[in-house]
Amino acid sequence: MSIADNLKKYKTEVETDNVKLIAVSKTQSNEAILEAYNAGQRIFGENHVQELEDKEAELPKDIEWHMIGHLQSNKVKYIAPFISLIHGVDSLKLLQEIDKQAKKNKRVIDCLLQVYIADEDTKFGLAYDEIIEILRSEEFSKLENVRITGLMAIATNTKNEKQITIEFNELKVLFDGIKHSFFKDDAYFKEISTGMSADYKIAIEEGSTMVRIGSGIFGKRIIKHFKANPSEN
Ligand SMILES: *Cc1c(COP(=O)(O)O)cnc(C)c1O
Repeated sequence: MSIADNLKKYKTEVETDNVKLIAVSKTQSNEAILEAYNAGQRIFGENHVQELEDKEAELPKDIEWHMIGHLQSNKVKYIAPFISLIHGVDSLKLLQEIDKQAKKNKRVIDCLLQVYIADEDTKFGLAYDEIIEILRSEEFSKLENVRITGLMAIATNTKNEKQITIEFNELKVLFDGIKHSFFKDDAYFKEISTGMSADYKIAIEEGSTMVRIGSGIFGKRIIKHFKANPSEN
């Protein structure tokens, strides 16, 4: 199947009033992205700042770019002028830097707090108590140019569907608790970004509002070796 066919299949299957499809285009060429774009996709996710900057400059301006990878504070300035949503915010320090750069660009930048739900030590993210600590802090209350619109997480890379279901379910419970405690009257806090090609069906059943699909749309990724850091998050 072509990229356009794959994309249409996913759009039909996952997109509803409550669920958005993020096409994860990391390592993919502009041509591949344009094929998805021409088939109607407008939200694309990337995980390297340099690659994101290049693609933003070269591709249509109505694309909504999402940063889905680990973001270093010193690189926020490069994407602050255009980024639509930063999925992987995992520290107060990073949030403060995003706020600072958003201010410089006279914008408010939407962010998701990345929660650690996986049974692995390789994944980034915050523990429940760390999220509470950030949201309760005086430093957080001073931020004016970031808006927390929800949570993001990556499940354990396993074929054990029961385990994945439990992890996504825990995330949903956590989301509901945080919503109740901190964002009760905030209509913007509504996103749960979970689910990739292998586990998006379970993710949607467990309350995901944003699924991030890469290989299912574009095919297997070819790791490019010219990059400073070819590793994927
Ligand atoms: C690469 C990536 C995806 C997409 O993964 P696929 O298995 O190709 O669908 C989703 N989320 C994050 C954070 C990623 O880095």
